[in-house]
Amino acid sequence: MVEGGCHCGALRYALAAAPVGSMICHCRSCLRITGAPVVAWLTVASDAFAITKGEPARYASSPKVDRRFCGVCGTHVAYTTTDDPDYFEVATGTLDEPNAFPPTHHSWLSHDLNWVEFGDGLPTFQKSRGEG
Ligand SMILES: [Zn+2]
Ligand SMILES: [Zn+2]
Repeated sequence: MVEGGCHCGALRYALAAAPVGSMICHCRSCLRITGAPVVAWLTVASDAFAITKGEPARYASSPKVDRRFCGVCGTHVAYTTTDDPDYFEVATGTLDEPNAFPPTHHSWLSHDLNWVEFGDGLPTFQKSRGEG
């Protein structure tokens, strides 16, 4: 069982199955919402993601998107979109063991900050991996 949660501990979650994807997002929405220059995300089947403690606050950063975060400490924990309701995106940095599922690619390089440089050699995409 993989577990994680927010910084203050009010919000906890568990993953009943291993993620099916792991990537680093450079998009403007992730940057603005977290204040970080990139955000790493895991893709998890919706039925494998469960909140085990607390009730997440929710924010629709765009009409189709539902972001879940801790209403106490503000940690951004998860993201869903009505375009892909079978999956949750879970913020890798909120795992208890964030090294467990290393990223395989970078997305949304079209929004990249010009001072962010990775030397990891992973594939990069101008939008999401599916969109190129
Ligand atoms: Zn919290
Ligand atoms: Zn993003």
